[in-house]
Amino acid sequence: MSFAAEDLSRFAINQITTPKWSLPEAIEGYARHGLHGIAVWRHFLNDYGVSAAARHLRQADMWVASLCTSAWVNELDSEAFRRAIEANKRILDAAAKIGAPCVVMVIGGLAHGDKDIAGQRSRVRDALFELAPHAAARGVKLGLEPLHPMYAADRSVLNLISGANDLCDELGDAAALVVDVYHCWWDPAFESELRRAGRDRIITFHYCDWLVLTRNLRDRGMVGDGVVNFPRIRGWLDDLGYEGPFELEIFSELDWWTRDPDEAVRIGIERCAPYIGPLRPKGSERRYG
Ligand code: ZN
Repeated sequence: MSFAAEDLSRFAINQITTPKWSLPEAIEGYARHGLHGIAVWRHFLNDYGVSAAARHLRQADMWVASLCTSAWVNELDSEAFRRAIEANKRILDAAAKIGAPCVVMVIGGLAHGDKDIAGQRSRVRDALFELAPHAAARGVKLGLEPLHPMYAADRSVLNLISGANDLCDELGDAAALVVDVYHCWWDPAFESELRRAGRDRIITFHYCDWLVLTRNLRDRGMVGDGVVNFPRIRGWLDDLGYEGPFELEIFSELDWWTRDPDEAVRIGIERCAPYIGPLRPKGSERRYG
């Protein structure tokens, strides 16, 4: 099956879907499949170097949906908090250099031995307010991605889309919403919180599927293999007039990470195609990217 370039113009592969590929390999690999969207991961970016990556992305005519992810802010002492703030500022700088419109803020679960989740939530809030002016100065959004509560202890205490919307209300223009169906599909407030966010607050949208049974914390499914209702969710986004990117983002230790990345990209394009196409009839849509 092949797809017109226009149908893929809002679609990016999130690099974590193909972890066998380095960043240059991913850029070339996605382009081979006619894709020019990529979400870049920080460890791959560091391996390649920010300047080399920026050059290669430009040469390959790639657009960047997001830079994943922020550094954790989950240490209890104030010196470590300062270090985490500085690390996140450097990540925002790197995002600006590669043209990423946001850094996905996976901002930290509980510190080792800590049981005060309310305290950690307020630490995260403080960190976001400290980072907001730097993000605004770089023209890069703090991309608030609520993570499913099963990640609250070890990844991020930002767990509800309603909480992410509350923070966006407080932070204003410096923040935006990164929505992932994997983290939000179960939430009775998913649809109403998308409406509350509106089209302009959602900066990128992550696709993958929730498998029954889920075997570990990195066992996300290919679109169509689980219980997520993609036509319904895409319909909500169409009603909002959402025109931003869609990313395929699959963490899959036991399945997709073991496969040939070319296979993951090919099947990913096929499975996502019905839910990423142009919003409006051909010729009337605003081209993204
Ligand atoms: Zn995600």
